Amino acid sequence: MNVEKPINRYCPRSGKRVAEDSLTSYRGFIVGFCNTNCRDDFQANITRRPNDTIYFDVVIKELELKTFAQTSEKYDITGS
Ligand SMILES: [Zn+2]
Repeated sequence: MNVEKPINRYCPRSGKRVAEDSLTSYRGFIVGFCNTNCRDDFQANITRRPNDTIYFDVVIKELELKTFAQTSEKYDITGS
């Protein structure tokens, strides 16, 4: 197994590459930021950063669509 890999490659804030030391989890997925400041701010204000969560929600949605195609399994991604 690899080291835990984030679902996104680029920071939702800066567009820079995700740094390996700046990962956190969101909705059960590993998400990454360009630096620990972005990461820590997101973690501390997770409900007040809609731009970040919308970005991750989209990435997760695409990921789950791919998963549907591969496994035909159904996930409830709309309920919270
Ligand atoms: Zn960033």
